[in-house]
Amino acid sequence: MLHIYCPHCGEYREEEEFHYAGEAHIARPADPNALSDAEWAEYLFMRKNVRGLHHEMWYHAAGCRKFFNATRHTVTYEIKETYKVDEQPQQGGQS
Ligand SMILES: [Zn+2]
Repeated sequence: MLHIYCPHCGEYREEEEFHYAGEAHIARPADPNALSDAEWAEYLFMRKNVRGLHHEMWYHAAGCRKFFNATRHTVTYEIKETYKVDEQPQQGGQS
């Protein structure tokens, strides 16, 4: 059983309460109408496929129902840290 620390609830909870919600720290375009089709497609569909530390969003679906970010090692599955969406990670990574 994997336990994930929710930074909003302030405690570890069971993995089944959470849902993965995609890559973190993706810069949303300020003016989508100013983008070319290729730039828009890049924003919508292109994501990193990291082997190592990766910053990703998680959703505490069966708890506080809030989003947060996690730094997870994609090979070992170890979650190094979790932090609120408006915070910066302490651990390195590629996103
Ligand atoms: Zn929570």
